[in-house]
Amino acid sequence: MDYEHVREVDPEVADALSNEVTRQRNTLAMIASENHVSEAVLEAQGSALTNKYAEGYPGKRYYAGCEYADRVEELAIERATELWGADHVNVQPHSGTQANQAVYFAMLEPGDKILSMELSHGGHLSHGHPANFTGQLYEVESYGVDPETGYIDYDELHRLAEEFDPDVVVSGYSAYPRTVDWERIQAAADAADAYHLADIAHITGLVAGGAHPSPVGVADFVTGSTHKTIRAGRGGIVMCDEEYADDIDKAVFPGGQGGPLMHNIAGKAVGFEEALQPEFDEYADQTVANARALSDRLTEHGFSIVSGGTDNHLVLVDLRPSHPDTTGGDAEDALDDVGIVLNANTVPGETRSAFNPSGIRIGTPALTTRGFDEDDIHVVADCISRVVDTPDDEDVKADVAETVLDLCEANPLYE
Ligand SMILES: *Cc1c(COP(=O)(O)O)cnc(C)c1O
Repeated sequence: MDYEHVREVDPEVADALSNEVTRQRNTLAMIASENHVSEAVLEAQGSALTNKYAEGYPGKRYYAGCEYADRVEELAIERATELWGADHVNVQPHSGTQANQAVYFAMLEPGDKILSMELSHGGHLSHGHPANFTGQLYEVESYGVDPETGYIDYDELHRLAEEFDPDVVVSGYSAYPRTVDWERIQAAADAADAYHLADIAHITGLVAGGAHPSPVGVADFVTGSTHKTIRAGRGGIVMCDEEYADDIDKAVFPGGQGGPLMHNIAGKAVGFEEALQPEFDEYADQTVANARALSDRLTEHGFSIVSGGTDNHLVLVDLRPSHPDTTGGDAEDALDDVGIVLNANTVPGETRSAFNPSGIRIGTPALTTRGFDEDDIHVVADCISRVVDTPDDEDVKADVAETVLDLCEANPLYE
């Protein structure tokens, strides 16, 4: 990837772009929401469809010349339908947040009530955080995980649903390492006669690959990001029953967006096609197996894992019991120095702040894409442990940095 055309026009951006490829090649991407898309998806996203205005939907556009845009969007929809099995799919949201926005805009009035997971327990900004439009337009109550077990407290959620009487119950999380029981959340929503929005942003790929149960057919609305575990073009998606199809389509366009990002929709179509291949199910299973291997090994090293392990693609480490003087930010910085890229994260019962919380969140989707197996992951876990144990020891860091480079070279990216 030499970006020769960019380089002719703009060497500064060309440098940044090629440095970014080098960074991805030579570091371990363990941010749980990240992945490495294929070169086919990159090419589709970088295509001339970026030039095309296609406001509207296939066959019903506001502009001429949409025959290929239509084809691409129809393919993305067909494939998404096959992957997740919903009656109706909208592939136009620019992001996962805008997919959620479409559902709220379609179904709620300002002042209506949202019951969602507490951000520090793994919720998402777009589920009612005060800094997000959802926290300002709607009345929000939050549920959380049981502080003892780290699992969602479904009984408390049910009780809250009855007491708060929300208009929508939101499920689906950014930092929850366990299988979600969609039926129990649906029962809570039913008890309040509320809609149920299942936001599977993180686990779209695990659901498509059969490694996590699907909320499709349970929840009224299922939203997602298309660039996380599903590894397709960057953006969002909304799925629903036929009865809500028109409302959702209108809420995406013209309700919340103008022209769709057709090049990203092409990236979605191509990524979805890849996810329909049988190898993708193996990828989803391996992603989970790798997260389990990571969790087990870190436990052996004395780390405290929220909920005691993982069922999905991520591990949430609470540093307080094992490393009381090391914040999540300290760990993030020290690991970044050696090429292990992950993020500091709040943990249930957080006693520090959102900016410098007490945990780290570690994901396996991107490494699994590169071909890492459990043995490789054990080496990675050993590296994480050494660095977090002695974040200021430059000899340890130099040694670990070398191991990280060896792992990267053994599992090359964008060759
Ligand atoms: C990542 C995420 C989103 C938002 O996705 P963007 O594409 O970044 O807007 C929404 N919900 C949850 C639970 C997420 O983890």
